Amino acid sequence: MPPPSQLTIPASPNTVQVSIIDTTTTIDFPADRFLAPKIDGLERVKGNAFSFLVENPRTGGKVVFDLGIRKDWENLAKPLHERLKTVFQIEVEKDVAEILRENGVGLEEVEAIIWSHWHFDHIGDPSTFPGSTSLVVGPGMPAAKLPPYPEDPAGHLLESDFRGRQLIEITPDKFTTRIGGFGAHDYFGDGSFYLLDVPGHAVGHMCGLARTTPDTFILMAADTCHHGGEFRPSSYQPLPDEIVPNPYNDQTTPPCPCHIFEKIHPSPEKYRTEPFYRIRVNEGGTSTAPNVEVAMQSIRHLQEFDAADNVLVVCAHDATLVGIVDVFPAKANHWKSAGWMERGRWRFLRDWDVGYADKKP
Ligand SMILES: [Zn+2]
Repeated sequence: MPPPSQLTIPASPNTVQVSIIDTTTTIDFPADRFLAPKIDGLERVKGNAFSFLVENPRTGGKVVFDLGIRKDWENLAKPLHERLKTVFQIEVEKDVAEILRENGVGLEEVEAIIWSHWHFDHIGDPSTFPGSTSLVVGPGMPAAKLPPYPEDPAGHLLESDFRGRQLIEITPDKFTTRIGGFGAHDYFGDGSFYLLDVPGHAVGHMCGLARTTPDTFILMAADTCHHGGEFRPSSYQPLPDEIVPNPYNDQTTPPCPCHIFEKIHPSPEKYRTEPFYRIRVNEGGTSTAPNVEVAMQSIRHLQEFDAADNVLVVCAHDATLVGIVDVFPAKANHWKSAGWMERGRWRFLRDWDVGYADKKP
């Protein structure tokens, strides 16, 4: 028997309304920039960028968690844009502000934009929101990443991201609770929505944990992981004998036998209980994560949430959830009864070429 997840989340009757926003962003990147080892069949990860609208029905407060990539990403800091063009293929149809407005959400109703972290594919364009919308960021980000470009010629952020807007940093002392392995800040003060301190990927990296019913949650996992194979399977959530629905065709029959993945796992003897990928570390020790050990520890803590049957984990770029989850303007609070977790959990396995005969052409 696998060890049970020990996750305990403080009780509260208070929930928030959550919508998963398809930001109309696609971001395609070389798998080996983030993930190791190389596994046949996945040269490039075709990601999307989920953000979230979170509404507190008691206070009337609305916040957005992440904004994806700004539509005019050519207007990012010039040196950054030049570099991005060489690594990523990016398409963006709309800014989140546009998506909200088109669906009847007045931007003046949005009291805050929360950035999971300061990377270009999460920060959108805050200047598309009115000055009454504040900007909430994680611990240490302002000290590490301000001033913006061009005052700092190497800066990634823009002065327009901050102009005329209150900047609120969730400093370390505000993470007064612990949930699983992470420090937690009770954002509305009523137990309905927590910001989690999830370090390692980037300075100030935070996740959101929204209570969708009194005892179910959506974990907005941002960039804790860039592929399902980076945190699944785990000792808490082993690969089952038969994988249903079949990740290659989304059907329940024939089920996909798990043993076909043994040969592509870096540690075949542990292929059912350890993730397929680790965070890539280059020769010389550099990585996309400034602190790889801490980032790997955050992934291990994420596995406890992922193993809990009342927490739906949504990583920002997890395109395997496209077509399974309902997106804004629909709500996501019914995710558990809709079966999204079971349908999505193992779908990432389809990304690899294991010579599976029942693979959909
Ligand atoms: Zn990202």
